[in-house]
Amino acid sequence: MSIKSFIPVPRTLMGPGPSDVSPQVLSALSRPTIGHLDPLFVGMMDEVKSLLQYAFQTSNPFTIALSAPGSAGMEACFVNLVTPEDTVVVCVNGVFGMRMTENVKRLGAKLVVVEGEWGRAVDPQALEAALKQNPNANFVAFVHAETSTGALSDAKTLCQIAQQHDCLTIVDAVTSLGGVELRVDEWGIDAIYSGSQKCLSCVPGISPVSFSERATKIVQERTTPVPSWFLDQSLVMDYWSGEGKRSYHHTAPVNSLYALHESLLMLKNEGLENSWARHAKQHKALAAGLADLGISYIVPEDERLPQLNSVYIPDGIDDAKVRSYLLEEYNLEIGAGLGKFAGKAWRIGLMGYAARSENVALCLAALKDALSK
Ligand SMILES: *Cc1c(COP(=O)(O)O)cnc(C)c1O
Repeated sequence: MSIKSFIPVPRTLMGPGPSDVSPQVLSALSRPTIGHLDPLFVGMMDEVKSLLQYAFQTSNPFTIALSAPGSAGMEACFVNLVTPEDTVVVCVNGVFGMRMTENVKRLGAKLVVVEGEWGRAVDPQALEAALKQNPNANFVAFVHAETSTGALSDAKTLCQIAQQHDCLTIVDAVTSLGGVELRVDEWGIDAIYSGSQKCLSCVPGISPVSFSERATKIVQERTTPVPSWFLDQSLVMDYWSGEGKRSYHHTAPVNSLYALHESLLMLKNEGLENSWARHAKQHKALAAGLADLGISYIVPEDERLPQLNSVYIPDGIDDAKVRSYLLEEYNLEIGAGLGKFAGKAWRIGLMGYAARSENVALCLAALKDALSK
């Protein structure tokens, strides 16, 4: 048996993530590895922190990049903040909302589910009703951009309702960060997590997380230990902060953080608003082209995510055949349906570096060809 170096064929990634990584970010990744406590690296981590504060639109001192994927960012928010004494209202309108409920159950807290329709935004009135029925609730959790269905929820309104009922908010922004409007401080979000591989177009495996001062205080004042050692943010806080007194917690993914630094810098240089506008513009171009092909969207127009287009597979078309044709003939990856939409939908991502005219043109041409065969 002779195993050789693995050299992947370059693909165009237009699924639900990972998204296309730009050559600029890939080149940052290949720079020399230095020690994670090297003063040079510590300085870079401080820059990552400030770039993340910009991306999240927050001045939260506790804003870090967790050394783990988005799912761990989700878990970090729940394990640090939620205890068995708490009541958590979770809005579920897709797969990632369901995962939030799983976190609450495993922590032994009281779970209240606001069941929403898949493919629709979370209904603010349903949240309001649930909070009226459960006056003891102290947390509200929801997914801003439901990647499993392509629906965008009104995070600002949902946070307002939560605040009126004295609840802290836990928000999944894995797919929303960088792709659609998101303002952590202005909207009063208490705990938020994202992922490196969606609209930031970085390599997978890092999860940006930010806690408000209220949330940070809860972590610091806990009387019971956080059930996960690795995700205990009171320990990580010393690693990401403290001038000169940074102490070892775990070995940071040094090169992945170079890549994240580069992708966040690209976002800062482009400007957040410009990035949101670019995603919206490419989404409109894609939607027009898909309509010409007779392909229809699952989500109503004003609730659609520009960066994740979920569409019905046309009648009589073989899902797997089309996706493997696109991959083999065009090196193009689009996503399959997830959860209730498995086998019924495609999910076409326009995330970060993939939200470009060339990608829209390639995807439309390739789909047209595949459908005609
Ligand atoms: C991708 C995704 C996650 C999980 O992120 P991983 O990096 O795959 O762990 C969580 N929530 C949403 C909305 C996502 O799109």
